[in-house]
Amino acid sequence: MLTTRPRGTNDLLPKEIEKWHYLESILRQVAALYGYQEIRTPIFEHTELFQRGVGESTDIVEKEMYTFLDRGERSLTLRPEATASTVRAFLEHKLYAGSLPLKFYYVGPMFRYDRPQAGRYRQFHQFGVEAFGSQDPGLDAEVIAMAMDIYERLGLHDLVVELNSVGCPHCRQAHRQVLQEYLKEKVTALCVTCQGRFAKNPLRILDCKNAHCRKLVAEAPTIEQMLCEECRDHFQLVQEYLQELQVPYTLNPSLVRGLDYYTKTAFEIVAQGIGAQSSIGGGGRYDDLIEECGGPAMPGIGYAMGLERILLTLEEQGVVLPTQAKTQIFLAALGEEAQKIGAGLAQELRKAGVIVERDYLGRSLKAQLKAANRLQTAITVILGEEELAKGAAVVRKMQEGRQKVVPLPELVAYLVRENKGGDMDE
Ligand code: AMP
Repeated sequence: MLTTRPRGTNDLLPKEIEKWHYLESILRQVAALYGYQEIRTPIFEHTELFQRGVGESTDIVEKEMYTFLDRGERSLTLRPEATASTVRAFLEHKLYAGSLPLKFYYVGPMFRYDRPQAGRYRQFHQFGVEAFGSQDPGLDAEVIAMAMDIYERLGLHDLVVELNSVGCPHCRQAHRQVLQEYLKEKVTALCVTCQGRFAKNPLRILDCKNAHCRKLVAEAPTIEQMLCEECRDHFQLVQEYLQELQVPYTLNPSLVRGLDYYTKTAFEIVAQGIGAQSSIGGGGRYDDLIEECGGPAMPGIGYAMGLERILLTLEEQGVVLPTQAKTQIFLAALGEEAQKIGAGLAQELRKAGVIVERDYLGRSLKAQLKAANRLQTAITVILGEEELAKGAAVVRKMQEGRQKVVPLPELVAYLVRENKGGDMDE
């Protein structure tokens, strides 16, 4: 136990963290381009927030939440997603009183007691955006375009935007009735989960992954035929905007998504050919959620993308992300006096913006040069007794194998210049 992490969690080791930093830098950069500002909410919230905000009959609330009582006997839950938290913060700080729409983004860990497998974890990370205060179908299209923009900048390809409208409570009610009518005779043949969904949330049956259920609902009436005029017009405009923004999409009338709060636009972005966990992001409009959480009647739209899934997909598609800057200079020093001079030099170079590494283990010169090789530094500075006695150091260009003796007083300026790509022989 002491040396094993909890099931469904991951350690992000230094080797992988560079990819995360790069990914996060793209996310923040694109968020700024589209006018979204970061919000950071707590990792845990009052359990009721998710019960109300995500929906009692969702898989997340029914069986996936990490819920616990704190020492004051309050029921708290590790956030399974961040839309409800963002809405809560928006209401708590009365941000709706300012100018609208307000556009937020977040990046951070989410927690779901899911069955772990490749691409599905109990602690995973999401980047998401939420825009509150506008019903504009152009915003729906822009949010989808923004998600695609991120994926494309990262180098992902073969992605499909699946799009649907799940209507408003009005058309949903009508759809629910015809759906229940249609499924009435088939209930006993559905999987156990769907049997439970029949009364509570029949819409979710359309989304079941069970092959048998899929067959049974293949011909079921879809929401498309039941959309009210307003929802139909909105959906039509979203599509026109998507065409204007040159974002290809596929209509998927059975896309309902696992969260209860969606209204009108629902979408999912799927990576083709990467196996079971192919959804790399999804979202939609939630025009009733803010009111449902105790706020004013105000529309909203958002999406979330799974960062582990994005990285997995990048790997499967053979995309290599740029990595962080490498160590530029290694200071190899022999003897106590040289070590001290080396430490001072390292400090000066770092202050000048050069990435420096040096020896802390009192190793032989040979071992230090080996360490420099392993780090693939372009330059190694050798501070040996002989050179120091002459008030100089040896600067070796590792790849070319060339070296030069440089007087100590000139060393820092010389190395800074070299590091910027100067010529050894100048
Ligand atoms: P959702 O909040 O369920 O709409 O999920 C949005 C995105 O988060 C999905 O498209 C996935 O990329 C990712 N995601 C959801 N659940 C998990 C999980 N258990 N492990 C890893 N990624 C997940």
